[in-house]
Amino acid sequence: MKCYVHHEEEAVVNCAKCGVAMCQACEEKALFRTANGTGQAMCPRCSLNEAQSIVDYESKWLKKRAIKLGLCALFIVWGLIEYVTKADGIYDMFAYFLIAAIIINLGGNKKPQSIGSQVYNATAMAKSPVAYFVGWVIGYTIFAPIALIMNIIGYIRTRMQYKKDLEILSQVQEAVAEMY
Ligand SMILES: [Zn+2]
Ligand SMILES: [Zn+2]
Repeated sequence: MKCYVHHEEEAVVNCAKCGVAMCQACEEKALFRTANGTGQAMCPRCSLNEAQSIVDYESKWLKKRAIKLGLCALFIVWGLIEYVTKADGIYDMFAYFLIAAIIINLGGNKKPQSIGSQVYNATAMAKSPVAYFVGWVIGYTIFAPIALIMNIIGYIRTRMQYKKDLEILSQVQEAVAEMY
């Protein structure tokens, strides 16, 4: 069988997703593979689809995350004000921190995978989602202001990753467009 891109080349492998025949060069240059980038190669068109879905996911995540972080910041600042202005405000403070902790952890702590890394760390959540949620909420309630700062740093890093992934996506689009 011949490669579906390079019609003169002998195919050595099939795309992991759609099954088209691919030559050695296509296999080696594959942008996406199964098993987090170590397994069977995907063809250029399927790689493009994968890249597009990652960028879409990142975009959605950033929008949702911005709203969550805004709400959390509000409750955490509110809690700190309670603590500073009231004699026994520490209880109110932790109550507000708890609200922030629930808001930020609802819907899981999944972060978008970048196109480059293809690493997806959801194993802990898959094992025991409830324990995972409770653990994060307790931890967040205790360290809310620090956790919020870490979240904001994480958000900025994901934004940068998203911009990089957008660039990679347009490179993949160009490369695939040249092939057909
Ligand atoms: Zn394919
Ligand atoms: Zn080829």
